[in-house]
Formats: sequence, structure tokens, C-alpha cells
Amino acid sequence: MQNIIIFGAPGSGKGTYSDEIVARYDMGHISTGDVLRSEIKQGTELGKIAKGYIDNGQLIPDNLMIDILAKTYDAQPAGRGVIFDGFPRTIAQAEALKQMLAERHHNMGVMVELIVDEETLMARLLNRAKEQGRADDNEETIKKRFAVYHSQTEPLAKWFEAEGMRHTFTWEGSKEQMLSKIFNFLDTLK
Ligand code: ATP
Ligand code: MG
Repeated sequence: MQNIIIFGAPGSGKGTYSDEIVARYDMGHISTGDVLRSEIKQGTELGKIAKGYIDNGQLIPDNLMIDILAKTYDAQPAGRGVIFDGFPRTIAQAEALKQMLAERHHNMGVMVELIVDEETLMARLLNRAKEQGRADDNEETIKKRFAVYHSQTEPLAKWFEAEGMRHTFTWEGSKEQMLSKIFNFLDTLK
């Protein structure tokens, strides 16, 4: 499978669908949120910096993220596609990803955009707060993350459209239906 960028608001299901896609097409998976949470857990310098931003619903600065992304990508087994989950989140990150892949003679692949209404997103994130206890899943921080998403990340959808990579999937109330729409599309690719 070619590379896939999974794109959507906080709580849109990027991680959930990534796991399903990875299992079906045997791909690598880079979740920048998971990478950062693991750094925080290990108490690294990067983790300490990241925690301040994450707990406040803000994005980690682009230069740090771009550095982490290249290192994480190069640590993936070669020769199979990778799902980028949670990256890029800004135009600068998208430009950096494009360049990083071009330097390695790899393609960006396709972008899978998940569209979910905000009421559903909020309900999911508050539910996840109960189940997983993530520090940034509280109502106040979630609202900040939505605002950051609208101002910094959502404009990227147009960037992907201009690259001819954008494929949009809209939530209509069922995970199975969403998944089958995504698989039907991905099955048409190599
Ligand atoms: P979900 O995974 O449910 O869709 P989410 O998108 O809010 O929710 P993560 O992708 O796990 O969650 O990201 C959590 C936090 O980690 C973000 O709010 C941000 O602070 C930080 N982060 C993750 N990826 C990036 C990135 N590419 N650039 C900057 N900050 C990032
Ligand atoms: Mg996630």
C-alpha cells in the first residue's frame, strides 16, 4: 500500500481507523500523539516540553515535530506504506513532510479525511476521558483543541486538495459503514 495521511478533528477516529487499516493492508503506523505521550511517560526532555503544550490544547512547535517525524519515519521497516496519524497539522508540517519524502524518493500517497460533527466529537472525547483518563480530554481543553484545529489544521484540507490527494469520508452514525467506505476506496489503490 502507498502512504496514507489520516486527517480529521480531535476525536474523529484517526487512531481507531488507522489500527483497522494497518491490520488490513500490513502497513507501518506513525501516531505523533502516541509518540509524544510515550516521551512524556518516559520523562524525556522532549516529553517535558511537549506536556506543556498538550495539556493546554496547543500544538507542539513545528520545528520539533518535523524533527521527530523524520526520525520516526526512518525507524519504520522499509518497503511498505506508512499511515501518518496526527501529522501534518499545519501547512509548514505538510511542506516539510512533502520535502522529507521527496528526499527519500517516496510519495506522499493519499489523504483520508474524516468529517464528524462537533457534537459527536465532544461526546466521544468526554467518553474517552472516562475510559482512558487522557489529561487533555476535559471539556475546557477539548474546546481549545477544536479552536486550534479550525485555525491551524483545517486549512490544510485545501492544501491536500491542491495536491490531488484529498478523499473525504463523512460520519453517518456507524463505524462499520465508515470503515467499509474507506476500505472500498483503499482497495482500489495499490
Ligand atoms: P484523536 O487522536 O482522537 O483524533 P487528537 O487529534 O486530539 O485526537 P493526538 O493526535 O493524539 O490527539 O494529539 C494530541 C496532542 O498532541 C495534540 O493536541 C497536540 O498538542 C500534540 N500533537 C500531536 N501531533 C502533533 C503535531 N503533528 N503537531 C503539533 N502537535 C501535535
Ligand atoms: Mg489519536
